Amino acid sequence: MNFPEILPAPLRKLDHLEMGARFSALPPAFYTRLACTPLPDPYLICGSQSAADLIGLDAAEFQNPSFIAAFTGNLALPQFSPLAAVYSGHQFGVWAGQLGDGRAILLGDVTLAPDQAESHMELQLKGAGQTPYSRMGDGRAVLRSSIREFLCSEAMAGLGIPTSRALCVTGSDKYVLRETPETAAVVTRMAPSFVRFGSFEHWFYNQKHKELKILADYVIAQSYPHLQDRAHPYQALLKEVTHRTAKLVAQWQSVGFMHGVLNTDNMSILGLTLDYGPFGFMEAYDPNHICNHTDQQGRYSYKNQPQIGHWNCYALGQALLPLIGEVDDVHAALSDYESVFDISLTQLWHAKLGLQQTLPHDQELIDSLLLILQHNRIDFTYFFRHLADLRSEANVEATTLRDMFLDRPAFDAWAAQYRSRLQQENSQDAERKQRMHAVNPKYVLRNYLAQVAIEKAQKKDFSEVEKLLTILQHPFDEQPEHDAYAALPPTWASSLEVSCSS
Ligand code: AMP
Ligand code: MG
Repeated sequence: MNFPEILPAPLRKLDHLEMGARFSALPPAFYTRLACTPLPDPYLICGSQSAADLIGLDAAEFQNPSFIAAFTGNLALPQFSPLAAVYSGHQFGVWAGQLGDGRAILLGDVTLAPDQAESHMELQLKGAGQTPYSRMGDGRAVLRSSIREFLCSEAMAGLGIPTSRALCVTGSDKYVLRETPETAAVVTRMAPSFVRFGSFEHWFYNQKHKELKILADYVIAQSYPHLQDRAHPYQALLKEVTHRTAKLVAQWQSVGFMHGVLNTDNMSILGLTLDYGPFGFMEAYDPNHICNHTDQQGRYSYKNQPQIGHWNCYALGQALLPLIGEVDDVHAALSDYESVFDISLTQLWHAKLGLQQTLPHDQELIDSLLLILQHNRIDFTYFFRHLADLRSEANVEATTLRDMFLDRPAFDAWAAQYRSRLQQENSQDAERKQRMHAVNPKYVLRNYLAQVAIEKAQKKDFSEVEKLLTILQHPFDEQPEHDAYAALPPTWASSLEVSCSS
């Protein structure tokens, strides 16, 4: 019997989750094959149904003890080809030499259904034991940082921002030592490729141009096949990665996301948000905000992210120079960064303000808004979500918003400008509100929300992780039953510090 084509492919049980090993087709110098190190008595903390759907896995398998064992690193399934990849990188602007997957182990890749944007998804266990690239590290990740990575990966996907995904997070009662003892956990990450800018820098700085070319050809064949026939494929690769990075950083800025550790080894060659550590979402708006307590100089502050994205593309350009040949061609590929970033961000600001046309003084309207948000320490997410309620007729008070400002005359002056700008394009309130709600999230992963879920999970109650996952997968929906999760952060939230410790 033939089924109509619209029926989804049947969901697969773990045994039928076939996997390939595309990355291991590279020469052995690119990685080390190894086994994961088991953790005692692992248990499921949370699984993402939508991530499972992506790879056609039946989410009921999350409860299967074999699944939990396999995705903690305790059971090597026949379809796994575990390995750790080598890479290098610039950390905080300084060449750090060889790094590599010190605690992440690639299992292989799943072929996706033909209707998916990507053809393959690699599966990787983060925290599954030591590798030859662990340096002084123990190969583990703690529950706290694993829950943060799991939730933020899925939250970013919900926001429509390119990101590695997270299939599940498992835990064990085994203690690992950080500032204080914490229990170990493993996140299963998914991405079409985990190749980083630092993967290219590795071969460049070791003067291994043959390997550099092999890696570039691999990335083009796997992830940028449309560039294969270009006259200058390596320059085209650099240009496209530069474009993707610029657009990605613009999307981060538009939701107030700060990555926290934008080292070149954390930069995805696919333009995905990768390696979630001390990230944060802007609360009281301050462009100088530093989300990573370890980053004392503020290299990776909110306002610096755009330039750092460009800096990182330069590092990639440097590494690709032997393949591209001419410095001028490298510069040409990198030169679009600022314009792509500016155009993307301008479009995003317009959408956030509900503006459909672009008029000469719009940038001033945006800049003056950001200035009063900063001076009045206004919550970024809350403000933009509620801005949709402002009515365009003159002299109608938008009380919720206005009450947030200490300097009410400043808000009134800006609101008057905004109203007249809305009238210029004959903006319709109800319809604009719908558009604005589709781009201004009601729910983001605020640090304190993650903290509450983590503290409960540390007491073996995983319900809050599950709840946050459900809410954050649909951040633009009203979900009135979850209003409390969209409220302004409590006062204790401002004393939370997030560091590199993970
Ligand atoms: P990150 O700052 O998390 O991007 O990590 C930078 C480098 O340190 C990467 O090569 C990681 O694999 C490695 N690393 C971080 N933590 C550990 C750990 N606990 N054990 C082994 N390697 C680690
Ligand atoms: Mg990293």
